[in-house]
Amino acid sequence: MGHIKLTKVNKTFGATIVIPGIDLTIENGEFVVFVGPSGCGKSTLLRLIAGLEDTSSGKIEIDGNDVTRAAPAKRGLAMVFQSYALYPHMSVYKNIAFPLKMAGLPVEIIDRKVKDAARILNLTTYLDRRPGQLSGGQRQRVAIGRAIVREPSAFLFDEPLSNLDAALRGTMRLEISELHQQLGTTMIYVTHDQVEAMTMADKIVVLQAGVIEQVGSPMELYNRPDNLFVAGFIGSPR
Ligand code: ADP
Ligand code: MG
Repeated sequence: MGHIKLTKVNKTFGATIVIPGIDLTIENGEFVVFVGPSGCGKSTLLRLIAGLEDTSSGKIEIDGNDVTRAAPAKRGLAMVFQSYALYPHMSVYKNIAFPLKMAGLPVEIIDRKVKDAARILNLTTYLDRRPGQLSGGQRQRVAIGRAIVREPSAFLFDEPLSNLDAALRGTMRLEISELHQQLGTTMIYVTHDQVEAMTMADKIVVLQAGVIEQVGSPMELYNRPDNLFVAGFIGSPR
C-alpha cells in the first residue's frame, strides 16, 4: 500500500493560482522528492496530499480510494514535522507514543510499537530523556518515530533537515534513505536542496511556479533534462 495518484489537482488561494493543475502518480514503495525553488508550491502540494489543505479542484487517490475530501487522519499517511514540533515537557517515549495514545490503543500495544520504533531509530537508550536533552539528529529521529508507530502507507517530509547543520544533514540524509530501504514504505520528501534530491530519490519531481517541469530518476534528469530550468536546477553540464 502507498500508491498515490493526483489528477488535475488545482490549488487556488483567493485570486492566486498556486498549482494550476498537476497529474502525478507515485508508485508503492517509491522515494519521491519534490524539488524546486522557494515558493514554487512544494509544501502546498504535500499539504494537499496530506489533507491539510483542501484541493480547489481535481482528484487525489490513495491505494485506489478517492480521498480528495477525506480528513487527514483518514488518509493513512504520516507527516514528519521538523524536530521542533516535539513536546518539550514530554519524554522521548511519550512523544513517540502520543499519536497512539490519542488513537486510544491499549498500553501494551503502545509499548511494543514505541520500543520497536526506538530500536529501528537507535533511540532505545534515550526513551526517558526530554527533547531538550537530545542532539538535533536525535530529535529529528524522535519526530520520525512518531510517524513510524502509526504504520502509515506513506511518509511525508517537508524539508525535515533544513534546521540542521551541514554535517548532520549528511548523516540524516543517509539515515532516512536507510529507513526507506528497511521499511519499504512510500516516502514523499520535499526539499529545495538539489543534493538531497539527487542522492535520496528514486524519482524526482521538479517544480517551478506550481507546474511540473520534469519527472524522472536522478540519472534521467541529469543526463536528459527536458529544459534549461531542469538542467540549471539539477546541475547537469549542458
Ligand atoms: P514552497 O514550499 O515551494 O516554498 P509554498 O507551497 O509554501 O512553496 O508556497 C507556494 C505559493 O503559495 C507561495 O507563493 C505562497 O505565498 C503561496 N501560499 C502558500 N500558502 C498560502 C496561503 N495559505 N494563502 C495564500 N497563499 C499561500
Ligand atoms: Mg515549503
